[in-house]
Amino acid sequence: MSSANKNRAGSRSLLVAGAGIPGLSLALALKQANGPALEVTICDPGLSAGAARHRGRAFAVAAGPRRMFERLGLWERIAPAAEPIRDMVITDSRLADPVRPTFLTFAQRSAEDESRGEPFAHMVEAEAFVDVLLRAGAETGIGFEATGITTALPERDRIRATLGDGRDLAASLLVAADGGRSRLREAAGISWVGWSYPQSGIVATIAHERDHEGRAYEHFLPSGPFAILPLPDRDGRHRSSIVWTERQADVPALLGGSADETLAAIERRFGLSLGHIELEDGPSAHPLSFGIARRFCGDRLALLGDAAHVIHPVAGQGLNLGLSDAAALAEAITEALRLGTDPGAPEVLRAYERARRFDTVAMAAATDGLNRLFSNDALPVRLARDFGLGLVDRLPGLKRFFIGEASAIRGAQPRLLRGDAL
Ligand SMILES: Cc1cc2nc3c(=O)[nH]c(=O)nc-3n(C[C@H](O)[C@H](O)[C@H](O)COP(=O)(O)OP(=O)(O)OC[C@H]3O[C@@H](n4cnc5c(N)ncnc54)[C@H](O)[C@@H]3O)c2cc1C
Repeated sequence: MSSANKNRAGSRSLLVAGAGIPGLSLALALKQANGPALEVTICDPGLSAGAARHRGRAFAVAAGPRRMFERLGLWERIAPAAEPIRDMVITDSRLADPVRPTFLTFAQRSAEDESRGEPFAHMVEAEAFVDVLLRAGAETGIGFEATGITTALPERDRIRATLGDGRDLAASLLVAADGGRSRLREAAGISWVGWSYPQSGIVATIAHERDHEGRAYEHFLPSGPFAILPLPDRDGRHRSSIVWTERQADVPALLGGSADETLAAIERRFGLSLGHIELEDGPSAHPLSFGIARRFCGDRLALLGDAAHVIHPVAGQGLNLGLSDAAALAEAITEALRLGTDPGAPEVLRAYERARRFDTVAMAAATDGLNRLFSNDALPVRLARDFGLGLVDRLPGLKRFFIGEASAIRGAQPRLLRGDAL
C-alpha cells in the first residue's frame, strides 16, 4: 500500500474524492494554510477531461464564497469569467401574460448597505473557474489522481481507500465530495432523506443583442422559475445564462424539436427586453432532486458539497452551500493541525458538522418552500405570494434580510467567508 503521507515523517494527509468546485476549494484552502504539514490528494475519474467537462455551465457565486477566493488570492484569476449581478428583477406571471409585472427588485444600492458595497453575487463561468482552481492546485502541490475511489475502510489512526485502478492510499481523513449520489456516503451507511422533484433544470447560454447591464431576471412561471443571469461579454457578444425549470414530462417536447423550435420556446419565456437572441451553448436538462444526509461525517469521513445536501436551484445556492462547507471544514482541520491533533478525530468532524448543519437545513427548507410556492398556478396561492413579494419590496429591513441570506454572509460564518485568513 502506498500512503498519501509516506514521504514526510510527521505530516498528516487528506484524501478528497471529487474534483468539483467544493472539493478543489477545500484542498486549495488547506494546502495554502498548512503547506507541507498536510499532504492533499484529490481523486476523480473526471480529471482526465480537465475543466472542459464544465463547458456551458455557470454558477451564481455569493459574496461570502467570493471573499474566500479573494483571501486565497484566486479571485483576480477568476474575475475575467465573472459578471457581478448588480440588480435583480423578480416577476410572477403566466406564460401567455402580455406583461410581466415586477414584484420585487434587488438593486445594488440595497446590497451596498448590507455587504460593504459588494454585489450579493457574481455569475461565474464554470469551465474557466475550474481551470483556475486546477492550475492553482498544481502550483500549490496538491496531488491529482484521475481515478475514482471505490471503497474506503477506516482503521484506528487512518482510513484506507482503494482507487479505481486497484491501488490503495491511506490518509488521516477522507472527504467525500463525490456528488449527490455519493457512493462513499452510501458505503459508510449514512442515510439520506430526499425525493425527486417532477421537474428538470434546463441550462443554456444565450447571446443577445442588448447589454444586460448586470441585471438578472427571475420569472416565476406556473411550471417553475425561469432565470436569466448576466455573463461577461465574449467576442463582442452580450451573453446571459438561463436556468429554466420545467415539468420533467414536458422536457422532451420542449427540447426534442429543431433548433429553431427550441429557440422559439426559450424566446417565449426570455422576453424581448434584451433584443434578438441566439443559442450559444446547450440546452442541457438536469433532473432535480432534494436530499440531505442525516450526518455530515462518519468514521474518518467528512461529507462535502452535494454529497451532504442537494437543493433546488431556484435560488442558485447549491454550490454556495458546498463552498461554505469547504470554508468550515478547512477551518476545523487547520485548527486541529495547529494544536498538533489528528485532523480525522471525531471532535474535529463534529465541529465541522455543528458549523454547517443549521445553515444547510435552513437553506434546503427555504429553497424547497420557494419552489413549491412558485411552481403553482392556483389562484389563492398566486395571490398570497404576490402579496408577499410586494410586501418584501416595500420593507427595506425584510429586503436586507433576504439579500444577506443570498450573499451567504449572515450570522456566524467561517473565517474564510468573512474574508479572514484561516
Ligand atoms: C440546473 C442547475 C443550476 C444550478 N445553479 C447553481 C447556481 O447558480 N449557484 C449555485 O450555488 N449552485 C447551483 N447549482 C448547484 C450546483 O450545481 C451543485 O451544488 C454543485 O455543482 C455541486 O458540486 P459538487 O462538487 O459537490 O458535486 P458534483 O458537481 O456532482 O461533483 C462531484 C464530483 O465527484 C466525482 N466523483 C463521483 N464519484 C466519485 C468517486 N467515487 N471518487 C472520486 N470522485 C468521484 C465526479 O466525477 C464529480 O467531478 C445548480 C444545479 C442545477 C441542477
